[in-house]
Amino acid sequence: MSRSVQMVLKLRDFRLIVEHASDAIMVTEAAPHRAPGPKIVYVNQAFCQLCGYEKSEILGRNPRFLQGPQTDPAMLHDIRAGLELGRPLRMQLLNYHKSGRSYWVEMSIMPLHDDNGLVSHFVAIERDVTHWHSVQDALYLLAVTDELTGLPNRRMFAELGNKYLHLAQRQATPLSVVMLDLDHFKQVNDRFGHQMGDSLLRVVGRVLSQGIRESDVAGRLGGEEFGLLLPETSQQEALQVIHRVQAMLDAACRAASLPAEACVTLSVGLAMLGAKDKALDDILHRADEALYAAKKLGRNRVEISL
Ligand code: GH3
Ligand code: MG
Ligand code: MG
Repeated sequence: MSRSVQMVLKLRDFRLIVEHASDAIMVTEAAPHRAPGPKIVYVNQAFCQLCGYEKSEILGRNPRFLQGPQTDPAMLHDIRAGLELGRPLRMQLLNYHKSGRSYWVEMSIMPLHDDNGLVSHFVAIERDVTHWHSVQDALYLLAVTDELTGLPNRRMFAELGNKYLHLAQRQATPLSVVMLDLDHFKQVNDRFGHQMGDSLLRVVGRVLSQGIRESDVAGRLGGEEFGLLLPETSQQEALQVIHRVQAMLDAACRAASLPAEACVTLSVGLAMLGAKDKALDDILHRADEALYAAKKLGRNRVEISL
């Protein structure tokens, strides 16, 4: 800052500027890094507005009281590591308002030094970026959802599948992966039109969602091809799910007033997580081979990858 500005602005002016700034500002002591952590010694009015607490409820506490169940622990670890090195930081973090609702803040934290050059305090300048996050979330959801059926698309199916695969490996539990393809679906389009084909795909999407448990996942992998992820499900239990879904499809088509000839059957391939599988694609590949075998063996049947 230039000398002339320093001369014109007194300390009192700076206090007013900080107190009434539209960004939220918080000053904490620098130590201790470990629990109970450094205390908050100053917050401005915007900070109180952002978190919903009065100054008297904030001062003397540790900033961790604004964090909650969905705050990313990895992010907190990075912040702590950065602070211990006395480095300026910039990041986004989920905080919790006094009312309990969460909000995203983008914050920059910089160290303040004492006369001996040691870090004595940290200043955090924060702004609410919740809206930006909502837009990002909505865009992500759009990118991973199949528009016609509302089911996860292949991308989300693969993301969830890989998560389930690693969980199953860690916990040594079974994971069943199912691929389902409508039989002679092209004939439905050709005979009754594309819209009727779309209606049938929606019915299949609904049936799959309704025929599985909450922890299972149904996805649309492409055109008239669907997938199921069935965690903690043995081969025998997976077969029961498949037979249930096959039976439900016929009833759902009739309930949706589709012509009987448009109610086609399903060919199904089933594969289980194996010791050598590293990614979902490894299991999907086997389920796809089993599906191909089901088609070759006459359709409307289930084949299991051995
Ligand atoms: P198979 O029993 O061997 O599976 O025969 P099929 O007719 O079901 O399979 P094929 O791969 O020959 O045809 C799939 C058809 O699915 C062709 C394509 O036009 C149609 N299709 C793909 N996506 C959509 C969609 O979103 N809506 C509609 N209505 N049809 C679609
Ligand atoms: Mg087909
Ligand atoms: Mg197909």
